[in-house]
Amino acid sequence: MAEQERMRVAGDGGAPADGPVGPDVTADVDVVVVGLGVGGEEAAGRLAAAGLSVVGIERDLVGGECPFWGCVPSKMMIRAANALAEARRVDQVAGRATVEPDWSTVAKRIREEATAGWTDDAGVERFTAKGGRFVRGSGRLVGPGLVQVGDELYRARIGVVLGTGSTPVIPPLPGLEGTPYWTNREAMELAELPESLVVLGGGAIGAELAQVFARFGVRVGMVEAGGRVLAMEEPESSELVAAALRADGVTVHTGARAERVEHDGNGFTLHLTDGARLHGERLLVATGRRAALDGLGLETVGLDPTTRFLETDDRMRVADGIWAVGDPTGHGAFTHVAMYQAAIAIDDILRCAGAGDAAAGGAGGGSAGDGRRADYRALPRVTFTDPEVGAVGLTERQAREQGYDVRIGFTPLSDSSRGWIHGVGGEGFVKLVGDAERGVLLGATSAGPAGGEVLSALAVAVHAEVPVTTLAGMIYAYPTFHRAIETAVRDLLS
Ligand SMILES: Cc1cc2nc3c(=O)[nH]c(=O)nc-3n(C[C@H](O)[C@H](O)[C@H](O)COP(=O)(O)OP(=O)(O)OC[C@H]3O[C@@H](n4cnc5c(N)ncnc54)[C@H](O)[C@@H]3O)c2cc1C
Repeated sequence: MAEQERMRVAGDGGAPADGPVGPDVTADVDVVVVGLGVGGEEAAGRLAAAGLSVVGIERDLVGGECPFWGCVPSKMMIRAANALAEARRVDQVAGRATVEPDWSTVAKRIREEATAGWTDDAGVERFTAKGGRFVRGSGRLVGPGLVQVGDELYRARIGVVLGTGSTPVIPPLPGLEGTPYWTNREAMELAELPESLVVLGGGAIGAELAQVFARFGVRVGMVEAGGRVLAMEEPESSELVAAALRADGVTVHTGARAERVEHDGNGFTLHLTDGARLHGERLLVATGRRAALDGLGLETVGLDPTTRFLETDDRMRVADGIWAVGDPTGHGAFTHVAMYQAAIAIDDILRCAGAGDAAAGGAGGGSAGDGRRADYRALPRVTFTDPEVGAVGLTERQAREQGYDVRIGFTPLSDSSRGWIHGVGGEGFVKLVGDAERGVLLGATSAGPAGGEVLSALAVAVHAEVPVTTLAGMIYAYPTFHRAIETAVRDLLS
């Protein structure tokens, strides 16, 4: 593409190659990407590498939440905490081990290996090396195809990709505002452990971090307003994880809402609706995430600025010339969703570019009818507690609510050879949600050691609608955890 050469900064004295550049327009380009997190960086980088002229705008760190304050540092913490837990199990299977947790090892790995001290030189280089033009700042739509950042204005010929991610939901709890509570950001940057911690929220992030800190010796209390932790997953997963948290010393309060917070020199006290009080030196707010759409100028392109999520079609188009990827789309706040959606948007944008279709995001733009389409039937997710909970597709409840003729297969890992051999730390199960009418899986959960890895076979089964009879006719290696799938499949056929 010649677009790279065509990009021209206003006032540089050169005449534009393909039409006038308005006095206020810093540059005309093919695509502007707002937010270079997981999804945005993928889209911007690959489009630039494909030869399009791309401006990528990032106000914080290129790479986004996942590498700096999300998946990567949290999984480093979990790796460390699980090593401690395994060592503590030695006396039940292998003799004696003395464990002396040291958070500084974890903090150092996160600071030095994972985040380079929370700097993004490598990320900027990754993008610019592919030919992208990087702009640091907050991008804002100011009209169709127009994005302003500071006093610069970029005009996109093909369109704009919104990859602005999400921010933590902070509940309007009396007494909370203005206190030094933590979100995931402070937790991931932690250099020294507190003596005690209250975790507000029993979702995946709350559960994972509560277990990590408890395993490092922090006294942890957790509050979940709903009836169970991991409310989005199967009730069996909630029970398993709540039991594991309690076994690690976490005080788990479910079905009790926090009604106010007190903060003083001694820390935080959470007053719950059931009269209980939880005290912690620190408070971690983990009550969900919301799409980062504030101040994005959605109204300038005819979109509702108060929307919770950006509604996308199956090619990730939000409107004419606008694509969205990742957390803002509301299809699951996961890195793999952002990457999956970015791949679809890239495909669509490249086809628009190939069609030479200016403002091609419009209905009928590009080569409509072909290409990858987003399909979330087999959406996998993993909660990296120990036991790990992998899940894909529909839960039993979702399947029943959607009117399927549901058949359930279930087996505890303790009934399998591998679960029995594993002994301590081997708790878990496989649960299958079958559609009796079509003889396929709608969803599944694999909880236990490496539950997220066992999930892969189940994700294939749900995604490809592998007949349950085929799953029953396979050979499953002995003695593996995934062999429990075979046992659960038998329930579906009996
Ligand atoms: C503690 C924690 C653990 C997690 N663990 C996992 C996990 O194990 N597995 C998993 O799949 N997911 C995990 N996630 C979720 C995962 O991090 C996100 O789903 C993923 O980062 C979303 O990518 P994204 O591209 O939508 O947004 P982000 O990665 O959040 O990137 C958005 C970027 O846009 C920038 N931005 C926003 N607005 C503007 C603007 N107007 N102008 C310029 N820049 C802007 C932001 O600064 C940010 O860099 C975890 C999240 C957290 C918080």
